Amino acid sequence: MAYPIVNILNVPVAALTMSEAVSKVQQFIDDKKNALIATANAEMIMNAQHDEELCEILQSADLVVPDGAGTVWAAHHLGYAMPERVAGYDLVQELLKAAPERGDRVFFFGSAPGIAEAAKKKAEALYPGVQIVGVRNGYFTSDDEAGIIEEIRAAEPDILLAALGVPKQEKWLRRYRKELRVPVSIGVGGTLDVMAGNVRRAPKWMQKAKLEWLFRGLLQPKRAGRLVALPKFVLRVHRSKKK
Ligand code: UDP
Repeated sequence: MAYPIVNILNVPVAALTMSEAVSKVQQFIDDKKNALIATANAEMIMNAQHDEELCEILQSADLVVPDGAGTVWAAHHLGYAMPERVAGYDLVQELLKAAPERGDRVFFFGSAPGIAEAAKKKAEALYPGVQIVGVRNGYFTSDDEAGIIEEIRAAEPDILLAALGVPKQEKWLRRYRKELRVPVSIGVGGTLDVMAGNVRRAPKWMQKAKLEWLFRGLLQPKRAGRLVALPKFVLRVHRSKKK
């Protein structure tokens, strides 16, 4: 499947629709690709401006989807077509929905103790027959890592969802991806929290109005400081256009 790649502040973002993204991920699974997938919003792209390792990971990722209205705006502002936002949460739901029929096995790794279990229960209720073959919370020391890798390997998932936050999840996945031997690994941030009902997503009208970032900033005050990333991103993209 061919789709354009748009360079947004040196991050190569795929200009594809949700259904194309789902097909692409499923193709990686069928090819047993050991693929690393990232979901890039404005904040992640801004982090990549000063975090060289993150930037390099995104540049070498097998797929970077446009997660967030800011990313889609940037592509358009730079003069490129980008059909729609492919939010990480929504992509995960589409993959889980298709998983029972395809026989895809999924591992939930990350978030606070109890969250991945609750997300698993939710997934099993929403997508009957889905195989969540393992769960592990995201709070661990380096001594625990060998055990976690063994646990994931033994579960033999097709899809590994890593919810450790940006950039920890991307760095962890890149570091251990060869050993993990999972066809598809995706950094999914707060997705398990939302599935578990721990964190709410913005109402649909706010998502449509491209205001989900504002909702998240207001709802989680610890994130409020991160809101400044967005205007900085807008300015930076605009300047990169002029150059
Ligand atoms: N998290 C984790 N281990 C850590 C730090 C964070 O599992 O060492 C989890 C945290 O509990 C949350 C998720 O990472 O469920 C994503 O957090 P947040 O929404 O703040 O991150 P973002 O997606 O914005 O990077």
